[in-house]
Amino acid sequence: MSESNAALVQRLLRPEFRGQQAYGAPQLDVPVQLNVNENSYDVPPVVAASIIESIEAEVAHLNRYPDREFSALRKGLVDYLQRQDGVDLDVDQVWAANGSNEVLQHLLMAFGGPTRRALGFVPSYSMHELISRATGTEWIAARRDAGFDLSVRDAVQQVRDADPDVVFLCSPNNPTGTAMNAEVITAVLEASRGIVITDEAYFEFAREGTRSALHLLAEHPRLVVSRTMSKAFAFAGARVGYLAAAPEIIDGLRIVRLPYHLSSLTQAAACAALAHSEALLSNVQALKAQRDRIVDVLAAWGLSPVPSDSNFVLFGGLDDASTVWQALLDRGVLIRDLHIAGHLRVNAGTPEETTAFLAALADVLHLDASLI
Ligand SMILES: *Cc1c(COP(=O)(O)O)cnc(C)c1O
Repeated sequence: MSESNAALVQRLLRPEFRGQQAYGAPQLDVPVQLNVNENSYDVPPVVAASIIESIEAEVAHLNRYPDREFSALRKGLVDYLQRQDGVDLDVDQVWAANGSNEVLQHLLMAFGGPTRRALGFVPSYSMHELISRATGTEWIAARRDAGFDLSVRDAVQQVRDADPDVVFLCSPNNPTGTAMNAEVITAVLEASRGIVITDEAYFEFAREGTRSALHLLAEHPRLVVSRTMSKAFAFAGARVGYLAAAPEIIDGLRIVRLPYHLSSLTQAAACAALAHSEALLSNVQALKAQRDRIVDVLAAWGLSPVPSDSNFVLFGGLDDASTVWQALLDRGVLIRDLHIAGHLRVNAGTPEETTAFLAALADVLHLDASLI
């Protein structure tokens, strides 16, 4: 009997990928989509008009390769981080790519790879593990405590034991939502010898007083802080992520990126968006209010929401999380089942979407809807 195509491909695949599943958040066309931490608000019309104008100016010149160094975009990012976080960076300290996932891939290609190890504290962003594996980097899953927190002692101990080449920190952490104590970041830098990546994809949603790792860059040449325009900026479809680090680290990324990796259209769109950062970020406060509302209502129902510095809430206290997930989907509400026992994750949407989620959950679990 001849070999099936499936068996053939399994045999041809790199051995470590045989039988592996791809990243798989379901993309379903349902009325309320609160499963991938997107920003629920559309790009405001004035910003959309400015982006179109900026792209239009590029279209006639698509015969040429884009600026390989995306200089205008890097300048726009430096200015944004100055306005938003009060950090003074040089343009040679920032890097960008098609989503922060590609930024992370560049980092792992340059500083991870075969014979090297990356460590992350799980549960955390699943792409940290997937990108590590895809680049041939060994993945080490370090632990958090039962409340998903990470103490300085536990972090340092696990980093010392594993001696990784790359450490992933995620602050605010996805999927648990909470920002990391700055002391943990400094302690991990001191306990490690390799690159320390702090993934701050949700930083704009952090509660008052949370300090960005950007402020540690000047003293720590092995620290990398990654951010994205996908969440707070409401720009997930454009695919723009970035990082800040020492210029020498960025020289390492130039070795592995594909030439001209950011198209002229992406660069033009991102520059126009950054010029309107205030308008694009105008819904962050509204989303934070809905997030806090979710935490309050779920707690009043006796469920266990994890404190959140992001635009989503992980909540526990469910007997059978997958059944609840399916029952919500049957009611037109898509949230995320990350297979953490008794837990589901929902992102804060518009007030209407958030109400729809809470009402559906009250219906499924027979909770007091008057608390919504
Ligand atoms: C969403 C997310 C990203 C961003 O991905 P993009 O590729 O920029 O869209 C990065 N890190 C974490 C932790 C995330 O949740």
